[in-house]
Amino acid sequence: MTSDAQTRIMAMLHAHMTDLEKGDPVAPPIVSTAKYWLPGEPDVPYTYGRDINPTVETCEAALSALEDAPVVGFPSGMAAITAALVTTLKAGERILVPSDGYYVTRALLNEVLATLGVQAEAIATRNYQSADLTPYDVVWIETPSNPGLDLCDIAAITARARATGAISIVDNTTLTPLLQRPLDLGADMVVSSDTKAIAGHSDTLFGHVATRDDLLFEQVKRWRKLSGSIPGPLAAFLTHRGLMTLELRLARMVSNAQALLPVLEAHPKVKTVRYPGIGFIIGLTFEDTTTADAFIEDCPAILPATSFGGIHTSAERRARWGDDVPEGFVRLSVGCEPEAALVEAIKVGLS
Ligand SMILES: *Cc1c(COP(=O)(O)O)cnc(C)c1O
Repeated sequence: MTSDAQTRIMAMLHAHMTDLEKGDPVAPPIVSTAKYWLPGEPDVPYTYGRDINPTVETCEAALSALEDAPVVGFPSGMAAITAALVTTLKAGERILVPSDGYYVTRALLNEVLATLGVQAEAIATRNYQSADLTPYDVVWIETPSNPGLDLCDIAAITARARATGAISIVDNTTLTPLLQRPLDLGADMVVSSDTKAIAGHSDTLFGHVATRDDLLFEQVKRWRKLSGSIPGPLAAFLTHRGLMTLELRLARMVSNAQALLPVLEAHPKVKTVRYPGIGFIIGLTFEDTTTADAFIEDCPAILPATSFGGIHTSAERRARWGDDVPEGFVRLSVGCEPEAALVEAIKVGLS
């Protein structure tokens, strides 16, 4: 790990401690309040719960140390994505999105933002490199794509977007700011579903937007206040708590994924294995639906669930949601189980 990464992780771990006074609780209090004591002029930061909450601020400060950028927290990844889209697009403008990216982003654009005059066009992640970006006001990037795990070069694409005057936004959910740093690679904004690896325990939804552009930051904050999209204090507490062990969990998840690769690649039941060389998600293709479902159900270590990034290894057949993948394609999210026991359990699932 680079010394920069170590500095950011230290800052994230200690962000809350820097505010403490003697006798304060070390764990961030879950401040559940709609109102603040506010006689006279409203000349204090804490005026109303839709604008600001101390538990949310604690979580944002830790995320911000990791992103090395100001952060706005949201109640889910989609709430963060909505904020990013609404603040960067106007009627008559065009956005490029990946056709193999998270499908709810495209559905939001096609079913809601289209009615407000925003035009979305979708192309495959692998074609971003050669695409003409000049028609677009916003270029949306998701790499590795979800669930297909194709890659594109963030630095090259954000540079071309900037040259044509487009805003670039990266959905960095699958790798987190520990494994991929889109803002350092030239992106104007990052969005993340912290429901996944960042909170990491499958017990809360959360999302965030990060940007080093002051104007965009103010617009996203303003959107949150006007739309009422502030996360609850319990969600912020759980996300902050999960974030404290993100680095440890990711290290185990990634090394487990790498230990599983040769086993999966050598197995005759597995037709293809996709792994982008980084991260904890593996794409597996089985002969058909039956073989894929049998693997998920027979493996004693696999939680059959949608979503990914939790401490438990989980898997699902993505075609059940209509994703453009083969019927037997399984997205495996590798968890934090002890390595040898996990490898054995996966072998049982394959037998
Ligand atoms: C899950 C996910 C989202 C949406 O996040 P929620 O927290 O479920 O709203 C957005 N983008 C990607 C890549 C995701 O995997």
